[in-house]
Amino acid sequence: PEYSKDDIRQMAKDENVKFLRLMFTDLFGTIKNVEVPISQLDKLLENKLMFDGSSIDGFVRIEESDMYLYPDLSTWMIFPWSTERGKIARVICEVYTTDGKPFAGDPRNNLIRVLNDMRKAGFTDFNIGPEPEFFLFKMDENGKPTTELNDKGSYFDMAPMDLGENCRREIVLTMEEMGFDVEAAHHEVAPGQHEIDFKYADALTAADNIQTFKLVVKTIARKYGLYATFMPKPLAGINGSGMHLNMSLFHGQGNAFFDKDGGDMQLSEDAYHFLGGLLKHARSFTAICNPIVNSYKRLVPGYEAPVYVAWSGSNRSPLVRVPNSRGLSTRLELRSVDPAANPYLAIAAVLEAGLDGLRNKLAPQEAVDRNIYRMDAEERQENHITNLPDTLHNALKDLAADDVMRGAMGEHLFQSFIEAKNLEYNSYRTQVSQWERDQYLELY
Ligand code: ADP
Ligand code: GLU
Ligand code: MG
Ligand code: MG
Repeated sequence: PEYSKDDIRQMAKDENVKFLRLMFTDLFGTIKNVEVPISQLDKLLENKLMFDGSSIDGFVRIEESDMYLYPDLSTWMIFPWSTERGKIARVICEVYTTDGKPFAGDPRNNLIRVLNDMRKAGFTDFNIGPEPEFFLFKMDENGKPTTELNDKGSYFDMAPMDLGENCRREIVLTMEEMGFDVEAAHHEVAPGQHEIDFKYADALTAADNIQTFKLVVKTIARKYGLYATFMPKPLAGINGSGMHLNMSLFHGQGNAFFDKDGGDMQLSEDAYHFLGGLLKHARSFTAICNPIVNSYKRLVPGYEAPVYVAWSGSNRSPLVRVPNSRGLSTRLELRSVDPAANPYLAIAAVLEAGLDGLRNKLAPQEAVDRNIYRMDAEERQENHITNLPDTLHNALKDLAADDVMRGAMGEHLFQSFIEAKNLEYNSYRTQVSQWERDQYLELY
């Protein structure tokens, strides 16, 4: 909603708000909070609230550490849970430099920039409907997460006495109180795994929603003595957690991907070009959409996660699926993204990939309506099907070589992301795991 400064002052007073939680997101997708007492409200509304940016990953060096938080008033929201001392309101902020410029290392500012490019290309909205999945684990007596799942349920299971079920229900109710339009909530395929889908929104709101959603899920889970994790593959041998992104471009009220005369599929030229761009840059945006070492343990055959760069109107094994609904709901579903991704960066990356497809009228390869996992390497080659990168290391090599993705992130984020992620990979690579000792210690 569009709030004025006076609206905000009034709401804070009426609702007895005592603390302001100023939220932004760092390079790694972690939500950062600066909490200030309500006495700072006027300062905040005048864009005069300062913080030290040098403590934030991927932000700035010590010598240029002063940063400002400019609140996006439309994101004002009072948390339904309150402390004994009064309520907490959150507002999502943009990070600005001391000379009054949007800070280029702020992923949210970057998404705003890419969305402006989209408007110049003649579209009004990039709509995103996310499908985040997560696991609920039991906690030990010290409040640390264990790897013990809280149920043995499976897809669409109904277990009335289930703790996870009750916990999920409360998450949904809380989200609704916070203004989310929850479309579906269900148990996922793996035990202890859940999915909650909320209605699509414009890209910026959708990214904000994803961040808020994670916070709500973790907060409510704790109340039930459960630990909610968005780690992409917490347990080997069962499905991991994805965060499929449904996407469409709108001009005004119309869905630019829909064309009722667009052949069997009723897809527009724009839809095909956007799809062409997604497929062309799929390997290089993988590092952004699947940003951690563990992401690549999910992108393996056999667990409903994509492995190959292909698209289809009918089956779920490819990277991009075109769900059946048409009209306003005409959309592309990108199935590789996982919930460890920084939503601002991931959405900017896929949008820029699609815009590149539109600019250069890229044609997608033929749809693949067969199960790709049953094809051998030769058949895949005949059908122009390539692989997604299989490690963070390989994904980063593809990212570094793609100038369109460089543009999607801007130089500052691009450089710091690649540098930080290479360090992360090297730290992993030099570890020796239990698996290796089990396999080799006695054998050699
Ligand atoms: P699935 O077919 O994978 O089970 P779901 O029905 O669970 O998909 O999720 C559909 C998601 O797509 C929801 O978040 C919904 O709001 C979103 N969606 C619907 N129409 C559009 C659209 N035009 N653009 C983007 N997302 C959309
Ligand atoms: N959990 C699966 C994944 O890793 C997706 C299951 C589904 O189709 O919803 O992407
Ligand atoms: Mg799912
Ligand atoms: Mg899906």
